[in-house]
Amino acid sequence: MDNCTFCKIIKGEIPSYTVYEDEKVKVFLDIDPSTDGHLLLIPKEHKETLFDMDNELLTYMLQLIKEKLYPLLKERLHIEGLTISQNNYLGQDVKHFHIHLTPRYESDGLKIHYDKSHLSKLEDVYEKLK
Ligand code: AMP
Ligand code: ZN
Repeated sequence: MDNCTFCKIIKGEIPSYTVYEDEKVKVFLDIDPSTDGHLLLIPKEHKETLFDMDNELLTYMLQLIKEKLYPLLKERLHIEGLTISQNNYLGQDVKHFHIHLTPRYESDGLKIHYDKSHLSKLEDVYEKLK
């Protein structure tokens, strides 16, 4: 897709620190890492969000994390944990589906801050969801 940063990375128009690639996906270092070894796993075909993704490809990507990417990070960077996350719509800066693989280390000091002052009562939320 024109004007998509990650499509440009796939086409080689923007450079990336690619650590794995095959016919379906590409994996490269996040340019603004939260911790050492922060990777982005993306499909080669442009899809915007999780809800546009083919289930089979999602399964393939999870399998890749389990069997290749986690072992790679563990072996080479000695990571002590791995946070897997991905944003859809709000909070999603790049509108090309991607999974963040954020290594955790005892010493990383990573803190995720949530402003809890706008939270509803747990019971009210539950009433809407049950
Ligand atoms: P999100 O906010 O979930 O859409 O995350 C987008 C991620 O893409 C951010 O963590 C950015 O640092 C990363 N990013 C943006 N442009 C590039 C790039 N050219 N190469 C590598 N990572 C990038
Ligand atoms: Zn794209």
